[in-house]
Amino acid sequence: MSTAMSLDPEAVLADVRTFVDDEVVPHAEEFDRTERLPRSLLDRVGQLGLWAPFLSVDIGGAGLDMVTLGRIHEEVGRGCSGLRSMLTVHGMVSWSVGRWGSAEQRDRWLAPLISGDTFGVFCLSEPDSGSDATAAGTLAEADGSGWVINGHKKWITGGQVADLLLVFARTGPGMSAFLVPSQTPGVEITPIPNMLGTRSSMIAEIVLRDVRVGAEAMIGPPGWAAGTVMTGALDLGRYSVACGSVGIVQACLDACVAYTSRRTVHDGRLRDLQLIRRKISDMVTSARAARLLCEHAGRLKDAGDPATIMATWVAKYHASTAATAAASDAVQIHGANGCSPDYPAARLYRDSKIMEIIEGSTEIQQTTIAEEAYREVA
Ligand SMILES: Cc1cc2nc3c(=O)[nH]c(=O)nc-3n(C[C@H](O)[C@H](O)[C@H](O)COP(=O)(O)OP(=O)(O)OC[C@H]3O[C@@H](n4cnc5c(N)ncnc54)[C@H](O)[C@@H]3O)c2cc1C
Repeated sequence: MSTAMSLDPEAVLADVRTFVDDEVVPHAEEFDRTERLPRSLLDRVGQLGLWAPFLSVDIGGAGLDMVTLGRIHEEVGRGCSGLRSMLTVHGMVSWSVGRWGSAEQRDRWLAPLISGDTFGVFCLSEPDSGSDATAAGTLAEADGSGWVINGHKKWITGGQVADLLLVFARTGPGMSAFLVPSQTPGVEITPIPNMLGTRSSMIAEIVLRDVRVGAEAMIGPPGWAAGTVMTGALDLGRYSVACGSVGIVQACLDACVAYTSRRTVHDGRLRDLQLIRRKISDMVTSARAARLLCEHAGRLKDAGDPATIMATWVAKYHASTAATAAASDAVQIHGANGCSPDYPAARLYRDSKIMEIIEGSTEIQQTTIAEEAYREVA
């Protein structure tokens, strides 16, 4: 099997499809039930070079293009949204270090982030601030040459297995980003069980109590992270969630085509009923439309075109709402079986709802896209 380092996008994608079909899909219900991803699976992701393949070659990455990255995240999302979420947040941290980190930060963190030996998590949300990140209350105060951080982060994907935290904290009027090893004294990680969806993504809350870090932990100058590290990382995360949502639609379609071809009612197969066919047609159309929107956003990223920000909002809005619609239809088509853990429909239904909340909720996309439309037309 080749690795992402081979840089042949089609070969990488073929490997990822085989990995997802053989090692993810058959175990996705178990990952969901046990609320864990086995270490061996995370190691396989590292062997395939999938943790941060988009980092440029000059800083040790594989230089994989964003369109291919999106297709990889679609494939992984087709198999297991919990695993795709892990790729998303780790990618956001790796991207931040690669794009904005100092030479020292890159030297220290990039190699283990690329291999997956160090797992990075993105710590922005708090119990009282989500969509409105400016309301975050975590505070970093200058202490000699370093900083002391106090705060409470919540809903942190991969937090249970985190090695490196990218923590956003207030430093005076502005927001700063810090690279905090999870073993630093004062970091307390508590698992959050029983989430609605992406249950295998090992979510945690993280309390920081008098956490002391050196000046070298801060990315960029004080108060500078909101429009740079945060915006850029969230854009990449949103792109990943959009692509992962396409994977959910595709998984719904695959499951429904298989099920309706087997299941009989009134002496005929489900697949021969027009009302079922309408739902199948909707899934096919949604998957194709959402995939094209993601590809468009990916191409703009590869071209370095800032229009990718709007394109990614649109792709995420369309793909995540398409995923909830497709998953709802998938449960309906499977009847009682769709309500049981014996078929993937129930998991896809729960996972799809998460896609409408994370990386900018549906309502935030709706207001942001309209705002941008008025700006473009004016
Ligand atoms: C499974 C999961 C994984 C997550 N992983 C991470 C992670 O790794 N790191 C991290 O930092 N965070 C993570 N989060 C948190 C996630 O980013 C937030 O849940 C998200 O930003 C929404 O914030 P909130 O939940 O506080 O909802 P709120 O911001 O309180 O919003 C509540 C509701 O109000 C709506 N709303 C809010 N503002 C507006 C507005 N201006 N106009 C109209 N409607 C509005 C929202 O759409 C939503 O429906 C995760 C969440 C989940 C569920």
